[in-house]
Amino acid sequence: MFEQFTGNSRVKAVLKRMLTNNRLPGAMLFTGEEGVGKKLFALEVARALNCRTPKDGEACGVCSACTRIMKLNYPQREDAEEWTQIIWTDHPDVGLVVAPKRVLRVEQMRQIEKEANFRPFEGKARVFLIDEADKLNDASANALLKVLEEPPKTSHLILITARPAMLLPTILSRCQMIRFSPLTPDEIESHLLKNKVVDAKTARLRARAAGGSMGRALSGDLVTFTSQRKAMLKVLNALAISDDRADLLRSSEQLNEAQYREEFEERLDVLETLIRDAWMLSLGVESAQLVNEDLSTELREISKKIDSSRAADWILHIEDLREQLIVNVNRKVTTDALFMVMAGDVPAPKRPKIR
Ligand SMILES: [Zn+2]
Repeated sequence: MFEQFTGNSRVKAVLKRMLTNNRLPGAMLFTGEEGVGKKLFALEVARALNCRTPKDGEACGVCSACTRIMKLNYPQREDAEEWTQIIWTDHPDVGLVVAPKRVLRVEQMRQIEKEANFRPFEGKARVFLIDEADKLNDASANALLKVLEEPPKTSHLILITARPAMLLPTILSRCQMIRFSPLTPDEIESHLLKNKVVDAKTARLRARAAGGSMGRALSGDLVTFTSQRKAMLKVLNALAISDDRADLLRSSEQLNEAQYREEFEERLDVLETLIRDAWMLSLGVESAQLVNEDLSTELREISKKIDSSRAADWILHIEDLREQLIVNVNRKVTTDALFMVMAGDVPAPKRPKIR
């Protein structure tokens, strides 16, 4: 039952149509920001395929198959070695893999290949989720390609990522992409209220500060996110309004400070949502549609100074930087260069694509 999930009505309609027509692709890629429900939707697809009493192509949500699919048996310990196996649900046909450390491994893809070749043990289809698919390296991506090239009819692979640009084109071309949108503050607020997570005042605040992510709104840990957003808004201000190079270089320095090392990619994600919001405003979209609606005053000022082509270029440059980070480059130097390219001081370097 996709209705139980908040937002993304277009995705619901698309998946429902595929399921009712028995046209679910063997390989799909669920993309969209962190915390918008990609994994939940993927598990719901697995349920719809294996439910014992499905209705109109959707899962009943209460039969034994449906209940067991929602129970993922994550390893108890942090030890990376325990995370290199398929993590099965309580249903023998549904499992997922995650990156044990920073990289999804070849052996994980080989396991999926082997398991995908079995016929379903209990239900109608075997379903494998590959979480954080952006963490495939060349070797594991190539191992995965083998499965994607001729997937058995009764097996489905669902790749999940917030950063599709990091995937090899050969992988992208073999998966049907399903794009999830960030949730609107109103959608998040009504979810928090309906489920009595917090009181009305807190719900309103959290919904507006969550940047489109239900995960963030639910966890309530908005402190980190708020400071990330503040720092990235400063970058955008320096780029669009003050044109202050010193400010940009200081921001680059901060972004590369040791304490923020783990947050580097998250901060780039935040910068991208801010750019997209300002871009939307420049196209005349209502501020209620923004991911960062609570910053609409600041974003509106920025939107007056940019146009679509500049915003689109900025996003391309950021994606470009992410690609460069896969190989060993000096992160600080690259970030400096990124900001200067975005400021329009230097043309974007013409370099061959890494892949
Ligand atoms: Zn069911």
